[in-house]
Amino acid sequence: GGTIGILGGGQLGRMIAVAAAQLGYRCHVYEPGRASVAAEVSAQFTCAPWNDEAALGRFAESCDVITWEFENVPVGPLAAIEPLLAPHPRALETAQDRLKEKRFVEGLGGVPAAYATVDTAEELVAAVDRIGAPGILKTRRDGYDGKGQWRIQTARDADAIRLPDAPTIYEGFVEFACEFSVILVRGRDGEVRFWDSPENTHVGGVLSTSTLPANAMVIEQTPAARALAAQAAEALGYVGVLTLEFFATGEGPVFNEMAPRVHNSGHWTIEGAATSQFENHVRAICGLPLGDTATTAGSVVMSNIIGEDVSSAHDCLNDPDAHLHLYGKHQARPGRKMGHVTRIGGR
Ligand code: ATP
Ligand code: MG
Ligand code: MG
Repeated sequence: GGTIGILGGGQLGRMIAVAAAQLGYRCHVYEPGRASVAAEVSAQFTCAPWNDEAALGRFAESCDVITWEFENVPVGPLAAIEPLLAPHPRALETAQDRLKEKRFVEGLGGVPAAYATVDTAEELVAAVDRIGAPGILKTRRDGYDGKGQWRIQTARDADAIRLPDAPTIYEGFVEFACEFSVILVRGRDGEVRFWDSPENTHVGGVLSTSTLPANAMVIEQTPAARALAAQAAEALGYVGVLTLEFFATGEGPVFNEMAPRVHNSGHWTIEGAATSQFENHVRAICGLPLGDTATTAGSVVMSNIIGEDVSSAHDCLNDPDAHLHLYGKHQARPGRKMGHVTRIGGR
């Protein structure tokens, strides 16, 4: 038993809390927003701003271990509760800034897309000039689900763009064959286990599907991607589930970004693997033995339910191979992740 603190109150926290409950833990969610789909399935809820150090301190007193489900939690206030945190907040610090993240991965021998930092209109013109178009301008911080990103098709687009009031980074567009992710769990003793790498598709910058088995190119590039991910986990002294996103290209795997947490492309593990990413995250942070990550089905397709599509979500319930997960969000906004369906084949 014991209490697991979860920073962030979204669907990832909700699924961590469900897995934690099964293992006999209680969860306490900390989230600045009043509505929390994680709090709805947890024993306790603190609704307070990230920088409210008193609230954070009281929250920590109620917890035996604290993790996060939201990767943009401000790191400063976490210093006071650092001994309880798993993973270590240095993973957040690295992953929260796309520049730091890319430099970190390059330091380990990984290859990101060509990039340049951009703080002024002149720097953007110079970056597009050097790297070429098409490309994508991204805010260095706080982006997710394709938010804070602008596609630049031609050098002329660069002149027209109004830069956001925050540091950005320009990335050359990677002509990838497909996308995939490496999802691993690292225990407190340093043991690392990988799930099979799904092939991922995105629509408008938002994950749409994760499929297994992945195509031959992904399978061929997975060992190199795994080696990089394991080195990253090691270097960060990481405990818990860590995800790295890759582009499969003719020149091998190109690193896209890192998520220091359970990941949407790992939702298929709930029904498609011997142990889910959520259960293994709980096991890792609680110092329990890690579970088997083997895929237990011949094929798996996880499809996100986005926005108003949630109104027809129940249509899949007559399909015996479909497993529906609804996150209990009250408002279906465009692009918002409302749930997902995992279809299992050939068990
Ligand atoms: P997430 O929700 O995964 O955290 P995010 O907002 O951090 O999303 P990215 O992963 O940077 O966004 O980009 C979203 C998607 O946009 C990628 O999965 C890919 O499909 C596309 N994309 C991003 N950068 C590039 C690039 N340099 N070249 C080609 N496609 C890209
Ligand atoms: Mg991201
Ligand atoms: Mg991404």
